[in-house]
Amino acid sequence: MAKEGSTEAPIRHPLDFNHPDFLDPKKLDDEMRRAFDICHGCRRCFNLCDSFPKLFDLIDESENEDVDSLKSEQFKPVVDACTLCDMCFMTKCPYVPPHEFNLDFPHLMLRYRTAQKKNNELPKIPYQLAKIDRNGKIGVLFSKLINWMSDIKNNLFRKIFSNEETLVFALLLTIGFLIIFFFRQHFNSFFNEFNFCIFTHRDAEASRRIWLE
Ligand code: SF4
Ligand code: SF4
Repeated sequence: MAKEGSTEAPIRHPLDFNHPDFLDPKKLDDEMRRAFDICHGCRRCFNLCDSFPKLFDLIDESENEDVDSLKSEQFKPVVDACTLCDMCFMTKCPYVPPHEFNLDFPHLMLRYRTAQKKNNELPKIPYQLAKIDRNGKIGVLFSKLINWMSDIKNNLFRKIFSNEETLVFALLLTIGFLIIFFFRQHFNSFFNEFNFCIFTHRDAEASRRIWLE
């Protein structure tokens, strides 16, 4: 019979990315259901993050109020809400190794995300935000500008930043600029398709080159 819960220090086993079962859809689905079922019976992590409340709500609203009633597509929001903070593993869970349940919830989320990456199904915005090296380089490029804008002596931008409406406007403008920057290839085909000329005194090909290359 399984022990009620381990009182020993958690042992973290490395993720076996190269195991043949690691990305096997059926094996992964089975493991998600096994873990979710244990969590459903425990619910100790209900207030740690968004993942667990989402999971418990899904189960409570399912037909038979159990994990078997869930469709596999419903797992995604639970995984998306996990920030991989590791709190459940490190501080709460009595079923982590060496307990025989061998539960490692954050590693399971990571395994699911690895499968999503393989299938090109990762959510787009977090995927872009996670490119830390690239984003860091972009941040460094703009650091002087941002420091100048936020300088205590810069009255104009201090005013913009202190007013909610102008701040939202400035943020929307920046987001618009970033969208154009990151999705310039799509805009590229848009301009090609409609032969759109940005400057009236230049032809469409010249505009495309100026803005998109
Ligand atoms: S690792 Fe994920 S599931 Fe665990 S507490 Fe952190 S956010 Fe929640
Ligand atoms: S991760 Fe562990 S402690 Fe948290 S709800 Fe699941 S079984 Fe309970």
